[in-house]
Amino acid sequence: MRITYKELYERGRALLEEGQIKDASLDARLLLEEICGTGRNDLLVHGDREITEQQYKCYVNYIERRRNHVPLQHILGYQEFMGLRFQVNGDVLIPRQDTETLVEEVMRNLHDGMHILDMCTGSGCILLSLLRYSNDCVGTGCDISEKALQAARENARALGLEAEFVQSNLFEKVKGKYEIIVSNPPYIASGEIPGLMEEVRNYDPLEALDGGEDGLRFYREIIKSAGEHLYPGGMLFFEIGFDQGKDVSDYMRQAGYKEVTVCKDLSGLDRVVSGVYGG
Ligand code: GLN
Repeated sequence: MRITYKELYERGRALLEEGQIKDASLDARLLLEEICGTGRNDLLVHGDREITEQQYKCYVNYIERRRNHVPLQHILGYQEFMGLRFQVNGDVLIPRQDTETLVEEVMRNLHDGMHILDMCTGSGCILLSLLRYSNDCVGTGCDISEKALQAARENARALGLEAEFVQSNLFEKVKGKYEIIVSNPPYIASGEIPGLMEEVRNYDPLEALDGGEDGLRFYREIIKSAGEHLYPGGMLFFEIGFDQGKDVSDYMRQAGYKEVTVCKDLSGLDRVVSGVYGG
């Protein structure tokens, strides 16, 4: 059987469209590029080159999985975040582009040699990006899931970064003090989870999504204990859902944080809350 690069792509795209996959064209192209080691231009310039049988088989398998709503990142095994490649699997939340806003806000306040704690570190994407783009900072990542920490450790190793990873139910096993505590905790209200996209609902770990009845449970709990682990003048940063800015700011002010600020993401939605402890 003889089939060209472009023909195969067209078939993949048609199958994904049939399966009502939202970014059918993009996903069909990215999966083909992954298999063939090609780039965006190949479709335009070398669309008539022949595909090997092995590439064909592999592509058919990838497209089938994607059509069944397996997230693209689980098929590829990675997601880019802050220009770095993070390995992902079903044990960790897939890093989201929105979370880059959180990392950028922390970076504006990060100085050489600071101690950073990333609470609910998951894949480690927040902590490891901060360490990668700063000098001599010392990082700890915490997560309740040992499997998530395995993924985070593997990401640290692959990126050539040193960090400490601690299995802990929130602050239970955290020792010492930090200049920066950052967290993108689970923040979806339990009742909203059944309405999420299949890719999220069935493949991101439920414990990385579920923020309790009102979605705010982890903010309350983290704010309750964070002060014991912040130096005076240290800062707490959260990613939040678009409608959680007021509640989370109120909790932080009530706990004595100063300069409490809500920042927006690239879509203009509230995304980050930060404040200074005892400042
Ligand atoms: N900190 C990780 C991230 O932002 C995981 C967050 C989570 O599991 N809720 O991607």
